[in-house]
Amino acid sequence: MSNPLYDGLFAVHKGKQTTFIFDSLNNINVSYDAFLKQASQYANVITLQGLQPGDCLAAQVGKSVSTLALYAACVQAGVVYLPLNTAYTFSEIEYFVKDSEAKLIVCSPESEKGMGIIAAQYTARLMTQSDDGLSGSLFHASQGVPTEFSTVDRTHDDIASFLYTSGTTGRSKGAMLTQQNLLSNCEVLKEVWEFTEDDVLLHALPIFHIHGLFVAVNIALKSGAKILLEPSFNLDRVIALLPNVTTLMGVPTFYTRLLSDERFNRDLTKNMRLFVSGSAPLLPETHIQFEQRTGHRILERYGMTETNMNTSNPYHGERRAGTVGFPLPNVELKITDPTTGETLPNGDIGQIEVRGPNVFKGYWNMPEKTAEELRSNGFFITGDLGLIDKDGYVSIVGRNKDLIISGGYNIYPKEIELILDEQVGVLESAVIGVPHPDFGETVVGVLVANGDSLDLEKIQLAIKDNLARFKHPRQLVVINALPRNTMGKVQKNILREEYKQLFK
Ligand code: ATP
Ligand code: MG
Repeated sequence: MSNPLYDGLFAVHKGKQTTFIFDSLNNINVSYDAFLKQASQYANVITLQGLQPGDCLAAQVGKSVSTLALYAACVQAGVVYLPLNTAYTFSEIEYFVKDSEAKLIVCSPESEKGMGIIAAQYTARLMTQSDDGLSGSLFHASQGVPTEFSTVDRTHDDIASFLYTSGTTGRSKGAMLTQQNLLSNCEVLKEVWEFTEDDVLLHALPIFHIHGLFVAVNIALKSGAKILLEPSFNLDRVIALLPNVTTLMGVPTFYTRLLSDERFNRDLTKNMRLFVSGSAPLLPETHIQFEQRTGHRILERYGMTETNMNTSNPYHGERRAGTVGFPLPNVELKITDPTTGETLPNGDIGQIEVRGPNVFKGYWNMPEKTAEELRSNGFFITGDLGLIDKDGYVSIVGRNKDLIISGGYNIYPKEIELILDEQVGVLESAVIGVPHPDFGETVVGVLVANGDSLDLEKIQLAIKDNLARFKHPRQLVVINALPRNTMGKVQKNILREEYKQLFK
């Protein structure tokens, strides 16, 4: 018997004295061997707490080596790992604990009191771990137990993690990710991005999200690479560390922030092999500026909680700005008509559907939602709209839920936002559809100023020059900041709610 995820990512490194993680918080190197020993100690502790294979452990803890050891411990013990965003409040956490039926919660010592109330209500046990990972009841309990643990048997189809979606379009949903989902994706990404044990990955993303946890950490494990673990993205730190690393994985704001700093240049990035971007759209202008400044082309990829990664721009070959590249090996991607489900020809915009070993098993506790989005033939309806161009590159034009249908015409907000963003004084924009008595829906442009005053009439004129009449925003409104979720993604549902009465 075996445990494919543990065997493939962790057990292969047993006894290795080379560094797995440089822990910048505590200023120590942690070898692969030491990491595996800590993970096994944690596996012993959580088993002693009564967790059985298949039970869920929810962790709302800081970013540390110990947190990654907790993930490894869950895999080794066959426990379902549920990492939670550290920004969530107790009332939000209550939903996740209740929904996931977690049997053990691990939180920071500071939240012990509030979390204790939730744990008691849902009969979960509670342990703590400090932000640096080196104290708290979980860490202390692990100090007295063996560094060996008999790995629990699992199959490819067993659930390794419940990962909740970011909650951009509504309430977060728990995606059931199997061992196979996680393993297959990091195997493919290691190959296509050519990771080796010589790589040093600068890790500045959170580790409660698919990108920072399963993409970044699992690729490093799969390739035996080294991770430089930073608590978060700090511009000065990242600039200081770049000469010592080979790869960086980031969200678009990492790259715009780097570009805003004069120290960021060709010389600073000369040892770099790869910059990856994802989780949100990378503006073509960022891609272009980045190349002009450093000589590197950012590699943009596309994925989501439910599927891990689906597409990637090529490692060799043209990385095309504004696209997310090609489907990964073993991933099928098609564009379909949202009403009929028929596959559309290349160039047409439709809903993006994907199928492959990366696609999740379904939403936990949501059989109806699962049935709506996961077809019986294995294709998952991602909720994103996009197209495949004549060369096979995939582009995302927005989310299905954000599509505006006005007087029978489909309007893609992104097309209008790109023009609004270019206007003098506009920092950023969000285009939404709101109810309208004649047209069903109509277009509203929500603007954030960059400090200068905005000439709304001039902006309307610029729109007229560029877009067909039915796409013109019927109204432009200026607000201080766009509503964003804890992952920094714009929540258009909140804006739609706010402005739903405008034309009533
Ligand atoms: P929820 O499903 O709860 O509404 P969410 O979809 O934002 O939240 P995630 O799974 O974290 O939750 O995000 C996946 C989404 O992020 C994708 O469906 C897509 O809309 C967006 N995304 C990811 N990568 C890219 C990219 N490279 N370009 C554009 N959008 C991207
Ligand atoms: Mg989603």
